[in-house]
Amino acid sequence: MRLIFLGPPGAGKGTQAHRVAEGLGIPHISTGDMLRANIASGTALGREAATRMNAGELVPDALVISMLAERITAADAAAGFILDGFPRNLAQALALETSSVGTIDRVVLFIVDEDEIVRRIDGRRGCNQGHTYHLDDHPPSQPGVCDVDGEPLVQRPDDSEVVIRNRLKVYRRETEPLIDFYDERGLILEIKALGPVQHITRQILDAVRA
Ligand code: ADP
Ligand code: AMP
Repeated sequence: MRLIFLGPPGAGKGTQAHRVAEGLGIPHISTGDMLRANIASGTALGREAATRMNAGELVPDALVISMLAERITAADAAAGFILDGFPRNLAQALALETSSVGTIDRVVLFIVDEDEIVRRIDGRRGCNQGHTYHLDDHPPSQPGVCDVDGEPLVQRPDDSEVVIRNRLKVYRRETEPLIDFYDERGLILEIKALGPVQHITRQILDAVRA
């Protein structure tokens, strides 16, 4: 099954993609995680991406599209995948549509209001292996330490209030038009992404399997 998770930053796409991918036995492919891994290991791509990411702007299409194209054609993605954070504008959606990867089955659209988004991003903490927590809703057992790997938990540089506001603006301008794009193709599946994480996972799994 080939799925796209679409929605504003902080809507819970990464949290759900991880769980739904496990449920379906397909990889969770997050372009944000891939870019952060490039920054952490000091690659040329990471150096090029970092300034834009820290400002809440999109990384140039050419870089993201070629990075994604390589990942999506790996053997583990042959039976399907969940794309989280890609596509983020029409150029990326068209690149995906005209690629040889095959048709997308569903686009899961996360519906969350803006106050909740800001609250979620404000409390988000993570380790450098990509495990995510929330200070109030999903705290680690020991403050400041990842339950999975014992790494310190930090706030993402682009999760500051000023950068969040810009990311939301960029989302509205660049990414929101994709709702119509995929609606015209009959692919949108709306999910009200409020409430306990496990309930949302169940709703998504039931809907995509239906
Ligand atoms: P995205 O990948 O869309 O940017 P995340 O999955 O990183 O969003 O979630 C953003 C923050 O909200 C994280 O701190 C996460 O722990 C928290 N979160 C995710 N889902 C829920 C939920 N259903 N209720 C409350 N908090 C949530
Ligand atoms: P995310 O982890 O999805 O919140 O993405 C974090 C940041 O990575 C974004 O604000 C962008 O700067 C960059 N990014 C991630 N995915 C893409 C993409 N598909 N196109 C352009 N930039 C991206």
